[in-house]
Amino acid sequence: ITIDDIKEDGKLIMATNAEFPPYEYHEGSEITGFDVEMAQAIADEIGVPLQIEDMAFDSVVASVQSGKAHIAAAGLTVDEKRKKSIDFSDPYTTATQVIIVKEGSEITDVAGLVGKKIGTQIGTTGATYAEDIEDATVERYNKGADAVLDLINGKVDAVVIDDQPAKKFVEKNEGIVVLDEALTVEDYAIGIPKNSPELVELVNKVISDMKADGRYDALIAKYIDN
Ligand code: GLN
Repeated sequence: ITIDDIKEDGKLIMATNAEFPPYEYHEGSEITGFDVEMAQAIADEIGVPLQIEDMAFDSVVASVQSGKAHIAAAGLTVDEKRKKSIDFSDPYTTATQVIIVKEGSEITDVAGLVGKKIGTQIGTTGATYAEDIEDATVERYNKGADAVLDLINGKVDAVVIDDQPAKKFVEKNEGIVVLDEALTVEDYAIGIPKNSPELVELVNKVISDMKADGRYDALIAKYIDN
């Protein structure tokens, strides 16, 4: 797609799964978060309003691939498999996969996940990682928060999810902790339909402008726990 296509559509359509604090989440009737503000800056640069399409995470890439959405802003990890269906902007942040357990759990590191029941969010890099753990049973949820609820209820032994949402879920719930170990290191980037070089260039410019003029640091300060 071209910038003119987006202008003709009269809005920048962003695909996301708004269950992923602090990147995208519901606040009252609004969807907000780090990615939402970034996408708003992209929409501003093009000169159109932002329209957020909230969907299951495992539909986000397909939605951009088919051109139904113009961009994906979804804490979306750059990976080789996804690169076959969509392009990515420059990375705008890094993340890790981490393990959440109940306080006092016998699971204290990744080795402890062998043979265990692991809650994950459907279609994520965390789910893919968990599938490779020996003898583990992987439970897939539409919302990370529901995986965390099942951890608290004892239906799963651990949850594998991205580090920042993990911190938010642990802050919101008593009796669960994030283990120190990072299972992976990943880059987040904006997903863009293939054959859209102009849009890739514009998104990369917005990311570098935001880093240069302090807007990026302001978003980090507002949303990200270090
Ligand atoms: N970063 C992970 C992925 O891309 C999870 C993203 C998410 O759940 N929104 O698979």
